[in-house]
Amino acid sequence: MNNWLFAKRASKLSFSLLIPATLSVAANSSICAAKAIDSPGSTTDQASVFSNAPVSTQGSTGGGIRLRELEGIRVATVAEAVDADAVNLNGIIVSNDKPVQGEPIKISLSQDIDPTVETFKFNGETYKFFTDDYGGKSVRSAYIAIPAQMKPGKHQITAGGAVATISVSDAHFGIQRLTLPKKKDNFNASPGEKETIAKAKKVLSAEKRWSSAFKHPAVGRMSTKFGVKRIVNGKLLTDYFHSGQDFAAPIGTPIHAAAAGRVLVAHTGWKLHGNVVVLDHGRGVISISIHMTKVLVKEGDEVEAGQVIGTVGKTGRASGPHLHYCIYVNNEASNPNFWFKNSY
Ligand SMILES: [Zn+2]
Repeated sequence: MNNWLFAKRASKLSFSLLIPATLSVAANSSICAAKAIDSPGSTTDQASVFSNAPVSTQGSTGGGIRLRELEGIRVATVAEAVDADAVNLNGIIVSNDKPVQGEPIKISLSQDIDPTVETFKFNGETYKFFTDDYGGKSVRSAYIAIPAQMKPGKHQITAGGAVATISVSDAHFGIQRLTLPKKKDNFNASPGEKETIAKAKKVLSAEKRWSSAFKHPAVGRMSTKFGVKRIVNGKLLTDYFHSGQDFAAPIGTPIHAAAAGRVLVAHTGWKLHGNVVVLDHGRGVISISIHMTKVLVKEGDEVEAGQVIGTVGKTGRASGPHLHYCIYVNNEASNPNFWFKNSY
């Protein structure tokens, strides 16, 4: 075991780590460690490294300590409070300090940040932290998404007096040509449609309903990717990007809840979205399934991960049968593929 390495390096690098001593290691390592990262070593190794690791809760040295460097990626991954790649930037802990456009980010505050701080700012918006209890310690965390069209380069997250600078990379989304029948070549919506969806995207509920990576919502070829720009019938759509991940599948293919959630919207017959289900997964994370044939849930229903919520269709503004699947984070579209691959 590499505990000596951890001890040696940890003594040099004092850091504010949120790993609670009483957290159940076995439960967490089996859920997220193996899935979330491509890391060699068994979960047994991870658990024992973690459980023997000395945990410092002294102040942060700032300057971006990459937690994985302290004792390999395995130490941090097992704790729900800290992600595998988490980086402590002056007390603001981000799951990735070098995200690409469309990437979701978990933000936590270290214990040495003023306990009265309840919000942070990013990209001109103010966001709210939620507080969880980990072994007697209050941990503040929240989720945001890097906007798909955010200018690559340095951007700041501020909380209280702390400033974290992250570096956003261009995701190189690309451009797609699409032909739509004339009557669908518009973004006309039904009365109340855009308003209802806009309101749902802003829902911020406290209960975090997921504890692992999201599952694919449908079996099908992953066709149009998140973020692509479009030329429709020969014309480039300005201010548009593809807000979700498409799954091409025959009409009637079951659509599953990718994670547990509460049904915010279950509607049929809209011009743009067609038949649609919106799920609230908690903490500002909302998923939207669009162009469905059948809708098999109703508003207010609690659904489990994997539960069938409807079937694939081509209702609304669709050129053929597919599921258009979006995940919004605090009202910002994120790339669903990050949610499929990582446990945030
Ligand atoms: Zn789509």
